[in-house]
Amino acid sequence: MSRFFLRTLRDDPADAEVPSHKLLVRAGYVRRVAPGIYSWLPLGLKVLAKVEKIVREEMDAIGSQEVRFPALLPREPYEVSGRWTDYGPNVFRVKDRKGNDMMLGPTHEEFFTLLVKDLYSSYKDLPLSLYQIQTKYRDEARPRAGILRGREFIMKDSYSFDVHDEGLEASYQAHREAYVRIFDRLGFEYVIVRATSGAMGGSASEEFLAVAETGEDTFVRSPGGYAANVEAVTTVVPDSIPLDGLPAAHPEQTPGTPTIDSLVAHLNEAFPRDDRPWEAADTLKNVLVMLRQPDGDRVPLAIGLPGNREVDAKRLEAHVAPAAVEPFDEADFAAHPALVKGYIGPGALGSESVTGIRYLTDPRVVEGSRWVTGADVQGSHVLDLVAGRDFVSDGTIEAAEVRAGDPAPDGSGPLELARGIEMGHIFQLGRLYAEALDLKVLDENGKLVTVTMGSYGVGVSRAVAAVAEYAHDDAGLVWPRELAPFDIHLIVAGKDEAVVAGAEQAYLDLQAAGLDVLFDDRPGKVSLGVKFKDAELIGVPTIVVVGKGFADGLVEVKDRATGEKRDVEVTALVDHLRS
Ligand code: ATP
Ligand code: MG
Repeated sequence: MSRFFLRTLRDDPADAEVPSHKLLVRAGYVRRVAPGIYSWLPLGLKVLAKVEKIVREEMDAIGSQEVRFPALLPREPYEVSGRWTDYGPNVFRVKDRKGNDMMLGPTHEEFFTLLVKDLYSSYKDLPLSLYQIQTKYRDEARPRAGILRGREFIMKDSYSFDVHDEGLEASYQAHREAYVRIFDRLGFEYVIVRATSGAMGGSASEEFLAVAETGEDTFVRSPGGYAANVEAVTTVVPDSIPLDGLPAAHPEQTPGTPTIDSLVAHLNEAFPRDDRPWEAADTLKNVLVMLRQPDGDRVPLAIGLPGNREVDAKRLEAHVAPAAVEPFDEADFAAHPALVKGYIGPGALGSESVTGIRYLTDPRVVEGSRWVTGADVQGSHVLDLVAGRDFVSDGTIEAAEVRAGDPAPDGSGPLELARGIEMGHIFQLGRLYAEALDLKVLDENGKLVTVTMGSYGVGVSRAVAAVAEYAHDDAGLVWPRELAPFDIHLIVAGKDEAVVAGAEQAYLDLQAAGLDVLFDDRPGKVSLGVKFKDAELIGVPTIVVVGKGFADGLVEVKDRATGEKRDVEVTALVDHLRS
């Protein structure tokens, strides 16, 4: 340590909110260069390499072969797949000296597809699985939590190529099992959840989430084993209701009721029900947003949902991707005078309406359901407005928030909500990219067929932070053995010549035994207290102290995680630590 490139810090970085960010910076693993852009220092690189090793071993074990693409990529293939436009502001675009457009790769489907197209032409060449561990670039809107969400980060991405659907299914399962082994070895608690496939397109898709309070992803699970990313949850749709005999709709004066709460209070006062009080769930609220298309156009969208639920931004975004969601502002209202703020009803919405604004409703708005909703007149609502009789929408959208206690779509019980960090994502892409980029091979019958693909990602740099997110205590990091930057943190405690010599000998012996040792040989001016503090902060799993007991042939072995201390005969140290 007297020469190791490391400075630990006493204070948390000012911009850090989550434990992994604070600790990785304070303990000298990473340093910030710019928002979402970090340098890896010697300690950090060692942990990163261990994550990479686990990922490599498990990818190799399923027969995937490692390649490496450039990060700097030409525009054309992204143009062909449509993603040059779809990525919008989320990627880094650069020009070369001749003015050619290039992209810093956010993910590499196009290029793997083209490489295989370049070299392979027969079903006999397949199945094939290729992977890389590589730096990716995304101009994230909210880089956050240090290396958890970077704008430059390291990903393992792999791609499978098959002729038939069953082949894709098998490749997907092989990846899924490899991921289970990877995340078991990384050692964090994780869940596998159903996911939407987002900007990638394709069908079946699952995410591996590290369970963490600080995670950005909300997922749900049921007692019966249903688990899904909140974006992928589908609403249990109530039965539709026969229209016969339903009362006619009637507009009423409801002055001063622009919010759901004020409306419900007014309804209970002025129009009390016989059976029970009015509830927010009896109202249909209509929320307007603007969708920013990848080409820059802004298009309005209206969402009709029960008044007791909010629009969930992530669910909405997942369903309108690649468009981005922006607020519907005063100028937008001014451009649509038929919209009466606080009293907007289905009458002014829909592609056939005066505004022509696309109107999508929550799946609970089934035919025959009755609502209190805006009458498109200041201070007035309509009661008993029946879906399918008095209004129709342009379709449904899964944009309403999911709540604890909502039923799981597969009937497996009430949902509970929890938070996680997305660590891996596996997709059955199908023929989307192969079609776009014309990747075909000759099948068994000599017929040209389009290849079917899978795409699979692991957040390698994110994993370092995700592990740190749970592997810490008040004093610092507490690495699991397989990921720790060193096996042993050896401290010389004392200036006595015999002690120093004994520690130096232990250093050599432990290294000779194949153990990777961080030796705190810093001279006497660094106090023992500082040495112990640093050892706890850095988080190597075993701390060995050569000090007072050395005169009696003893050294202290401390377990960083449990704090348990033990005196061990110096002659038995190597055997003790190897076991
Ligand atoms: P997220 O929802 O967290 O933005 P994503 O769905 O966009 O991730 P994928 O395209 O599925 O990510 O990428 C595969 C993996 O790469 C993710 O599961 C995640 O572990 C990792 N990853 C994605 N974006 C980042 C980032 N900005 N910083 C670090 N790791 C990332
Ligand atoms: Mg993902």
